[in-house]
Amino acid sequence: MMSAEPAVAATLSEAAREIVDVGRFLSVRNFVPATSGNFSRRLDSRTAAVTRSGVDKGELTESDVLVADIHAPPPKGSSAETPLHLQIYRERPEAQAVLHTHSVMSALLSSMLEAEGEIKLSNFELLKALGNTRTHETTVRIPIFPNDQDIPRLADKVTAVLAQRADLVAYLIAGHGLYAWGRDMAEARRHTVALEHLLTYELEKMKVRR
Ligand SMILES: [Zn+2]
Repeated sequence: MMSAEPAVAATLSEAAREIVDVGRFLSVRNFVPATSGNFSRRLDSRTAAVTRSGVDKGELTESDVLVADIHAPPPKGSSAETPLHLQIYRERPEAQAVLHTHSVMSALLSSMLEAEGEIKLSNFELLKALGNTRTHETTVRIPIFPNDQDIPRLADKVTAVLAQRADLVAYLIAGHGLYAWGRDMAEARRHTVALEHLLTYELEKMKVRR
């Protein structure tokens, strides 16, 4: 079920607990292999809790969670991709949690469909798990951005699409992974798991059509 109202701001310790828990949940599903992926939770209108870089996300402790100012450069020790999290908090006031995963399926499908610039997901019951989608009789378009080590340049491309797509709850980076967000940690997690399932379905569909 979707919460009608955005969740209230979290304390650092609440946010850190949510981040540690979601790390375990996503790690056992192999969505964040090795030390990949990063997670964040909004604290208030100006700050967010973000994960430390270089740590296995299934073995996070609360001390691996750092505080970032969403309008400033990311804190020392955080991932180079932290600006992509902070951007979502600036541009989506309702976003309370952002999850970035490096699953096989998100890397593979985004790489295969990079030239198309998006993946279209249609007529699948689980579409109702995404944002405000109320029916499976629809097409959800997830943008695919080219992978780029120049994070500010990548962020500019994301900004342009976020401005045009109020419905967006996720995007893919080609050959790299998924960014998904939600109005609380549970919703961000549901979007991540639902998209993973939908991407798996799309790949299976391609195999059957061959
Ligand atoms: Zn990444």
